Amino acid sequence: MDSMATRFLGILIALAAAFADVEATATEHRPPNFILIYADDLGYGDLGCYGNTEIATPNLDRMAAEGLRFTSFYSCSPVCTPSRAGLLTGRYPIRSGLTHVLFPYSKTGIEDSEITLAEALKEKGYATACVGKWHLGHLPEFLPTQHGFDQYYGIPYSNDMHVAERGDPPLPLMRGTEIIEQPADQDTLTRRYTEESIRFITENRDRPFFLYLPHTMVHVPLHVSPEFAGKSKRGLYGDAVEEVDWSVGRILTALRELGLEENTLVIFTSDNGPWLIKKEHGGVAGPLRNGKGTVFEGGVREPCVVRWPGKIKAGTVTHEAAMNVDLFPTFVALAGGTVTGDRAPDGKDISPVFFGTGKRADQEFFFYHGSELRAHRSGPWKYYRPFKETVKEKELEHPEMLFNLEADLSETTNLADKQPEIAARLAGEMTEFEKGLGAVPESKR
Ligand code: MG
Repeated sequence: MDSMATRFLGILIALAAAFADVEATATEHRPPNFILIYADDLGYGDLGCYGNTEIATPNLDRMAAEGLRFTSFYSCSPVCTPSRAGLLTGRYPIRSGLTHVLFPYSKTGIEDSEITLAEALKEKGYATACVGKWHLGHLPEFLPTQHGFDQYYGIPYSNDMHVAERGDPPLPLMRGTEIIEQPADQDTLTRRYTEESIRFITENRDRPFFLYLPHTMVHVPLHVSPEFAGKSKRGLYGDAVEEVDWSVGRILTALRELGLEENTLVIFTSDNGPWLIKKEHGGVAGPLRNGKGTVFEGGVREPCVVRWPGKIKAGTVTHEAAMNVDLFPTFVALAGGTVTGDRAPDGKDISPVFFGTGKRADQEFFFYHGSELRAHRSGPWKYYRPFKETVKEKELEHPEMLFNLEADLSETTNLADKQPEIAARLAGEMTEFEKGLGAVPESKR
């Protein structure tokens, strides 16, 4: 070989090495994908990995066995709209005014001034999709594609919101901002959401992506694909949970087949507790008191499993309390971003809890019913201001209450009189929290 050719070959080798380096760096620094699966009205006691023996959830049980299971993961609200507002903004819903459930007649929704998780991740180059129930406003300016999602496929509010006597239209299924089916065929929604999700994952396999999959199920009216009808030991409700579990399995399989498992964090949780008044069409809260619509543990403590092979240790259970508002700062931090200023999240980065390397920055949580602050958890203690609620058409007046959740998970023994200093401390912290909010927007309806 003459010296010219040797030199040329040398340059080629150097170039190849440089490219290899760039590629290695790109792989190393590629931020993780996020898949956030949000069930609707699924109870704390509805999954096998949370003690249910009637409903088969092998995929979620396996996800827990291969990842991390929370025993004390909260939603910031016991109902749909505010729960989702908190999840996607990282802030208590009182701050965005999204404190109440929206209806097809509502003219309001999420404001442009809010920063959604999808918007924050888009800043970092993520492809983003929302597949499922939105419920943060159904008019064009409030839809997912106006709030950081590249794509949207799903129903804009709850699947029971098609009450003709109230003037509701038949339930719409939307793609982007267009209605593509009306009424939506609800039997096949879970299956179609799954197919849509896998298509999005496959198309974006070579870049970071965020898939938000808020299932329509298991909110009433319950619907399942023909293959799932009559399959569970828990009637139609169990069938619907089992189809959601199947969907989780399909998504995990797709990740494996695409070689994306080790770079994808998958999290599964629920928006609020079980709708107990729906009896056999609602879920169960296991050992927890009450369910959807109340800030007792059954209304706000949710099943939550997280899986990220190679990063999260398999078979871990954490009793560290956390909340859905934490996912915003956690995902944004893992993606290498930050959100500061007046939209800074209330939630905390809980990635140290995921990885077993640390704790949440604090163990302080506030629970609203609509725009009324009702309860506060601080460490093991949960304090309730006196409040009224309607149970079975009767008005019930609750006194001031204090429970030690570590000793009394089912909130049966009110310690407010026995532990007046603790009750007073938590009551004071609630007042301080409210003061710290400053002026809040009017509640959207
Ligand atoms: Mg719900």
